[in-house]
Amino acid sequence: MTEHYAFTPPATVSVPVVGSPDRFPVHRIYCVGRNYEEHAKEMGFTGREPPFFFLKPADTIVVAEPGQTASTPYPSLTSNLHHEIELVVAIGTGGKNIQAADAARHIYGYAVGLDMTRRDLQGEMKKQGRPWCIGKAYDHSAPIGPITLAADAGDVNNAPIWLQVNGSDRQRSNVNKLIWNVAETIEHLSAAWELQPGDLIYTGTPEGVNAVVRGDLLVGAVEGLTPLSVSIG
Ligand code: MN
Repeated sequence: MTEHYAFTPPATVSVPVVGSPDRFPVHRIYCVGRNYEEHAKEMGFTGREPPFFFLKPADTIVVAEPGQTASTPYPSLTSNLHHEIELVVAIGTGGKNIQAADAARHIYGYAVGLDMTRRDLQGEMKKQGRPWCIGKAYDHSAPIGPITLAADAGDVNNAPIWLQVNGSDRQRSNVNKLIWNVAETIEHLSAAWELQPGDLIYTGTPEGVNAVVRGDLLVGAVEGLTPLSVSIG
């Protein structure tokens, strides 16, 4: 018997896959906080702390289709919208209590993402000890480029990662500077939540986060993956 819903259910959010007609259906978006030392320092923190996580709703994804520039509106309530370029891990096989040594077989692929942040609102919430949602999980806060299958992605754990705004360098580092690498992140994350196929993990941003304004063009890359191009509308 066919289900009858009170209204049309929302469409499944999905991300294109390089070299495949299949799209990757998004389940959840997990994000890792302060996962590069130099970024932790610029945010006023030092030392290795256990990884911590926050989430964005799946429908905050803004997809840059292959060869295209995605457009994301400048959000409400902020005057300090920050870019955070990040390696994104796409989970293809779920599981809980995944050990770092077994993490690779759970990874479907990788993409370049931006963890866009209303920094002024996040800062105010931090000060008050309140949740970060309003700063981090706003509508259109998670731009992402096409997913490259893990087998085709090269050595992403040692890949340069960078972001330019209007052609000028803003962030430049290497994924090998992650405090908690991809496998360790999956181990910690899957101890707290059962990972599902379709989960995306934004693994954290290197130093150089800064503000963007309407009209800016952001181009970000992780070597070996499809670059991400986003304009702020
Ligand atoms: Mn981030």
